[in-house]
Amino acid sequence: MEGRLKRELSAATIAAWAGEEQPLAFGAAQIPIVQSAPFAYPDIDSWLDAALGCAPGDIYSRNTNPTVRVFEEKVRRLEGGDDATSFASGMAAISNTLFALLKPGDRVVSIKDSYGGTSKIFLDILPRINVEVELVDTHDGEALEAAIGQGCSLVYLETPTNPTLKILDLARAVRAARKVGAVTVVDNTFATPVNQRPLDLGVDLVVHSATKFLGGHDDAMGGVLVGQLELVRRVFQYREITGACLSAFAAYLLLRGLKTLDLRVRRQNETALAVARRLADHPRVEAVYYPGLEWHPGHDIARAQMSGYGGVLSFALRGDFDTTKHFLNRLQLAHRAASLGSVNTLAGPPATTSHVECSADERRLLGIPETLVRYSCGVEDASDLIADLEQALAA
Ligand SMILES: *Cc1c(COP(=O)(O)O)cnc(C)c1O
Repeated sequence: MEGRLKRELSAATIAAWAGEEQPLAFGAAQIPIVQSAPFAYPDIDSWLDAALGCAPGDIYSRNTNPTVRVFEEKVRRLEGGDDATSFASGMAAISNTLFALLKPGDRVVSIKDSYGGTSKIFLDILPRINVEVELVDTHDGEALEAAIGQGCSLVYLETPTNPTLKILDLARAVRAARKVGAVTVVDNTFATPVNQRPLDLGVDLVVHSATKFLGGHDDAMGGVLVGQLELVRRVFQYREITGACLSAFAAYLLLRGLKTLDLRVRRQNETALAVARRLADHPRVEAVYYPGLEWHPGHDIARAQMSGYGGVLSFALRGDFDTTKHFLNRLQLAHRAASLGSVNTLAGPPATTSHVECSADERRLLGIPETLVRYSCGVEDASDLIADLEQALAA
């Protein structure tokens, strides 16, 4: 695909075709699930050639697998990286990346609004192995620059953040990181490569929970890392040993979902903006958090570094946690479930979604209201979703 067709392909085309150039067994038109743990060779010499990397070939599915490889190749092309590797879940991708690249004595700079599981690694696990972690206020670009400027080996960022959709300026953070020779890692789960390509802004590594938008159907767990060849290799070699590999069956489901990524995300962008605008005018809604709204504090940066604002928004209701519970219980076109980025709309409070690991006090310190609702738009019709939200608010 990169050979004869001499033009830059768009995301929709890459999602459909990347990694599928080779003719498949039995003339299959879709990538099969290669459900085999080891791979067999006709003789020891050809096995040795594959094992030593002198000839292409898979050895064992903890290391590589043909179905998994196509999934990695599609995400690699979508993000525009040199190499990609995949994992059993988003948290496996994040933890393997951090543990492969960090060693005792290193310093990491990140933000207070990282995904809950990621925050746990920063607050509980890395300090145990003598890695110093500084978490700065997400909205404070100057504090971030200053923290990076004090020297660090890794900068870990997320934008938009979960669940209050804060935006940070990636190009600015990259400039600061380069001055001190730090590796930059960005969790691009919320934006997807359809809306934001951090590698184009100079970021070294992009990580995803493929469980969310990339797969898009709430039926498979997975994670993926894309970026600079040497760094991705290091993490791949670490993952070969920790064994947090993506299964062929999950890769097949994620591949199937990935083919419609562009269609889904564009639709979800439009729906989220329509929902955000409607809720912003509603008397029972205290605040709406969505970077597509002109008055969102990160709107200008988002407009510059994103090509769409994403399918997730959040909003705080007037009232208390009981108001929010009552509202959520009345929604008919949303699963009350912990994920996001699915074809079905999903909604929930931070207490059971992004910040389930935190206490109410910790959430308050992070500036997350107890009346907040995270709302991940599916591919349903926007006016049906708005009608559902209005009936639930009216009660
Ligand atoms: C869900 C999520 C993760 C964790 O991914 P899993 O696949 O659930 O392990 C990491 N980062 C973000 C932003 C997420 O939304």
